Amino acid sequence: MKLPVYFDNHATTPVDPRVVEAMLPFFTEQFGNSASKHAFGWEADAAVYEARKNVAALIGAAPKEIVFTSGATESDNLAIQGVAEMHRDRGDHVITCAAEHKAVLDSCKFLERHGFRVTYLPVDARGTVNLDKLRAAIDDRTLLISIMAANNEVGTIQPLDEIGRIAAEHGILFHSDATQAVGKMPIDVEASGIHLLSMTAHKLHGPKGIGALYVSARKPAVRLSPTIHGGGHEGGMRSGTLNVPGIVGFGKACEIARAEMAEELPHITQLRNRLEDGLFARLDELHLNGHPTERLCGNLNVAFGFVEGESLIMGLNDVAVSSGSTCTSAALEPSHVLKAMGLREDLAHGSIRFGLGRFNTEEEVDYVLDRVEEEVNRLRGLSPTYAKRTAAARPAQAAAGK
Ligand SMILES: *Cc1c(COP(=O)(O)O)cnc(C)c1O
Repeated sequence: MKLPVYFDNHATTPVDPRVVEAMLPFFTEQFGNSASKHAFGWEADAAVYEARKNVAALIGAAPKEIVFTSGATESDNLAIQGVAEMHRDRGDHVITCAAEHKAVLDSCKFLERHGFRVTYLPVDARGTVNLDKLRAAIDDRTLLISIMAANNEVGTIQPLDEIGRIAAEHGILFHSDATQAVGKMPIDVEASGIHLLSMTAHKLHGPKGIGALYVSARKPAVRLSPTIHGGGHEGGMRSGTLNVPGIVGFGKACEIARAEMAEELPHITQLRNRLEDGLFARLDELHLNGHPTERLCGNLNVAFGFVEGESLIMGLNDVAVSSGSTCTSAALEPSHVLKAMGLREDLAHGSIRFGLGRFNTEEEVDYVLDRVEEEVNRLRGLSPTYAKRTAAARPAQAAAGK
C-alpha cells in the first residue's frame, strides 16, 4: 500500500492511465485545430466527434447536445447566466437550493445584482430539497430551476425525476449540476426531464480543465446566450479553440465509466460501507451527515463529536480527506452545506468528508479505520468536555446494566 492514502475523490480524481494513453497523440502528431479545413484539422475534428458521442452516451444525450467548456464552474455559469440573459423578456426569477456548489450560488448572486430574483430553497437534515417548497416557489416569471444531482460534500442525491416533472408541468427549464453524479450513478437527461446539465472530466478520472454543458436540442430546444464570445465554436454557445487532448481524454473517461459502471459502483459502495460500519463500530459520538441511502456510492461524511475537524485532518497526515469547514479569509467557517442541513456548529466543525473512488482498496480502508480511531481517541483524550461527558454517562450505563 502506498502512503499517503487518497480518500478525497470528490475534490478531484487521478487520471486513469487509459485516458492518458488516449490523449498523448493529440499533443504531438495529431495536434491539429479541429476547426481547420485540412488533414490535421479533419483528424482532430473526428477525434472530437468521437469524444462528443461518448460524453453524450453516458448521460443519454445526443452528440450535438454537448457543449465543451473548461469545466463545471464554467458550465454552471453558462447555464444560469445564459438562460437568464436569453429569456430576460419572459421572466426574472430563478429557483435554486442553499446546498448547491458555489459555482451555482455565486452565478445566482450575480443575477441578483443584475435585477433577477432568486429563491434559495432550504434542505432538510439529510440534505434533500422539499418538493412542496419547490412548487410553492414557482411563479409566472420563473425561468429556471437549478438543483444539483448529488451534493459534493454529503453525497445526497436529489429527486431529479420529480423535479423534472414539476419543471415540465410549469414550462420551466431545469438545470442540474451533475458534476459529482456523472459516472457515479446512472444519469438519463431525458428520463429525468433535465434541459441543461453540468459536468467535468476531472471528477471521473479524466483531466482537469475540460468539462461540458448538456443543452437539450429536443422538446424543448434550449437557447442560451454565450458568456464567452468569439469565433462561434460549439454552436455559438462557447467560443474558443477546442481543447482537443482534453476532450479526447474526457471522452475516454466517459467511455470507461459507462462500460465499467455496473461493476465499479457495487465495489465502491462495498468499500464505503466497510469504512462507515467500521467507524461506527469502533467510535461513539458519531453522526452521519447526508442521506443514509440516497447517497453517492463513494461518499461518507461523518461528524466526530468532541473533535475539531481541522485537528483531526492535521493528525491524519498520511490520509487525504477534507473537512466540513472552509477557510474564508481568516475565519474558519463551517460549510454552507452542513449549515443548510441545520447541523450544530460544533458538529459541523468536527465533520470529515471521505471520498472513495476507482483506485481505492480494502487494505486502504482498513488502514484509514485504524488511523482515524487512533487520532480521534488521542484528540478526545485531550478534551475536558469529552472526559466530563463520559464521566456523566457512566452511572446511567451502570443503571442500564451495561
Ligand atoms: C467540482 C465541482 C464543481 C466545479 O468543477 P470544476 O470543473 O472544477 O470547475 C462544480 N460543481 C460541483 C458539484 C462540483 O463537485
